[in-house]
Amino acid sequence: MSKEENLECSFCGRKKAETDLLIAGMDAHICDKCIEQAYGIVQEEVSESKSNGLSKDLMIKKPLEIKGFLDQYIIGQDETKRAMAVAVYNHYKRLLQEESEDDVEIEKSNIILVGETGTGKTLVAKTIARMLNVPFAIVDATVLTQAGYVGEDVESILSKLLQAADYDVEKAQRGIIFIDEIDKIARKGDNPSITRDVSGEGVQQALLKLLEGTVVNVAPKGGRKHPEQKFIEVDTKEILFIAGGAFSGVERLISKRLNMQAVGFSASLDEDKIDEENLLQYIIPSDLKAFGLIPEIIGRLPVLSYMNPLNAITLRSILTEPKNAIIKQYAKLFTMDDVNFSIEEEALNYIVEKAVEYKLGARGLRSLCEAIFTDAMFDLPSSDEKEFVVTKDYAEAKLTNTTLKKLKTAS
Ligand code: ADP
Repeated sequence: MSKEENLECSFCGRKKAETDLLIAGMDAHICDKCIEQAYGIVQEEVSESKSNGLSKDLMIKKPLEIKGFLDQYIIGQDETKRAMAVAVYNHYKRLLQEESEDDVEIEKSNIILVGETGTGKTLVAKTIARMLNVPFAIVDATVLTQAGYVGEDVESILSKLLQAADYDVEKAQRGIIFIDEIDKIARKGDNPSITRDVSGEGVQQALLKLLEGTVVNVAPKGGRKHPEQKFIEVDTKEILFIAGGAFSGVERLISKRLNMQAVGFSASLDEDKIDEENLLQYIIPSDLKAFGLIPEIIGRLPVLSYMNPLNAITLRSILTEPKNAIIKQYAKLFTMDDVNFSIEEEALNYIVEKAVEYKLGARGLRSLCEAIFTDAMFDLPSSDEKEFVVTKDYAEAKLTNTTLKKLKTAS
């Protein structure tokens, strides 16, 4: 027998002639059958590690990398991005913790973000979900009511997540839920001037268990309209909750706490001068309590961060810098029609100017662009024009006062 024919698989011992393929390694050989079998084992292992928590590679992302990812999509808001990065990192560490021999059990790091509407709260939550590749659902706290009242039960939150996970329960249980307008379910409490949902406190009570972790029977389509469907059990203990709200008026409470009104500003903070323009940065959990969130809810949303208001510089960056910046999106749309799109610096500044003047915020940037580009998007696809340069004059001509007023009312 030749030396070649003597070769055999180091794993199963099959002779070369008995295999379809024999691959040589350093000091060993492996046949096609053993490769197949080994691949099967690998697959099994991977899916097991996924099903008992989540894929281990999630752990590879350190807070610095998570923040780096957020930086690609979100301008500014550094404090929140850092807080979120740590919270998410700890959340997934918690999920990977082994049955502990010591009694240290890592608690959930649900998050609450406070900031004016349009400052990027939803965007931050959505971007985190995108990075982790987990299902994401947005729910509006204002539509929630206590069980038995007209409106949506708190459990409906989970139907949305299930839907986002394509009814894969395992996946849904590792998802992220963004509860918007959490401030609207504040109770009157210490702050009588805040209007509220009558069942505000009841909803907060109902939310408690979900935030902490409980098994809930969820109607798959979120409604009593499908009585024939049986309930799906969803365990919320691994779901990350991010709550957001504008908490308008909370600055007054912060300022009161900082004792500004009584003793004049900067008296209560010895070293740092208080930045009156942005009081939200000093927010602490007790301010949320004063606003009307019950202490138990605050306790279950232990990571508290704030969003800075967007100034002209930030708005200008939002237009062009994020990975999927609005202007980049329009450029892509035009390119698809072979139109070379460009916009002059002055035109960009003009858009920002109008957004600030009419208090349209970041969302308004999109409406302003839409108003400026719609005619071109209508005409250019059927014309021979292959160049579209947006100058300030062009932008000005498209944004008539009527358009601007309309945008203002719509915002
Ligand atoms: P909120 O949830 O605070 O009301 P959103 O996250 O819905 O605000 O923000 C509205 C839109 O404004 C986003 O979709 C995004 O296009 C833009 N935006 C707001 N803040 C930022 C930011 N810091 N960086 C990039 N885009 C932003």
